[in-house]
Amino acid sequence: MAEELERSKGAEPKDTKPGFQNPVAGFGVTFKAMFKKRLTEQYPEQQKTTAPRFHGRHQLNRHPDGLEKCVGCELCAWACPADAIYVEGADNTDEERYSPGERYGRVYQINYARCILCGLCIEACPTRALTMTNEFELADSSRANLIYTKEQLLAGLEEGMVDSPHALYPGTDEQDYYRGLVTEAAPGTERQVAHSKGEVVQEADSTFGGTEPASEGVIGR
Ligand code: SF4
Ligand code: SF4
Repeated sequence: MAEELERSKGAEPKDTKPGFQNPVAGFGVTFKAMFKKRLTEQYPEQQKTTAPRFHGRHQLNRHPDGLEKCVGCELCAWACPADAIYVEGADNTDEERYSPGERYGRVYQINYARCILCGLCIEACPTRALTMTNEFELADSSRANLIYTKEQLLAGLEEGMVDSPHALYPGTDEQDYYRGLVTEAAPGTERQVAHSKGEVVQEADSTFGGTEPASEGVIGR
């Protein structure tokens, strides 16, 4: 306080230590640091595990039968403070259905040259379609490569899933998906998808869209 007062009056603060002690004190700091635990990380040779709730690359999630959770509402884009998200929604049709509801995200892009990984977009998402992964190696030398498309962000297919577009699980509606009643793709969905793409399919065990009812073990209604 006294030093600040002296400085404000234009006077040099008084040195409380004898002059020769200053360099010694400086080396003392260096000397003490030599015996402290080193924090240097040998990245990328040694990868450190991130915290479980680390904010890394985004992911667009799927329902357990493979349909997309994104409904193309753009709330994530509006919530983003860096204007890093671009969404174009479109209507599902009976012939081409990507999500259980009325709409789906036809175009979805995140620009990682802008994104600050703050997570506000995932808080805004009403369907938990958008979450963040632990992947952090996003650097690139090209701006174009930093714009991730829907294809890059969409989650992979897990067991029991069939890639969209395909029909709703027979006998269910949109609400049943959010109630967690659909736990896997309906039998024969793969065949139905292949058929809609004009691919040659085996006539083996298809029950999709036929007279056979949906498995009661899958839908707990
Ligand atoms: S994490 Fe933040 S900056 Fe990145 S897209 Fe989401 S809201 Fe925008
Ligand atoms: S990710 Fe979520 S918030 Fe963004 S458009 Fe899709 S449903 Fe809406």
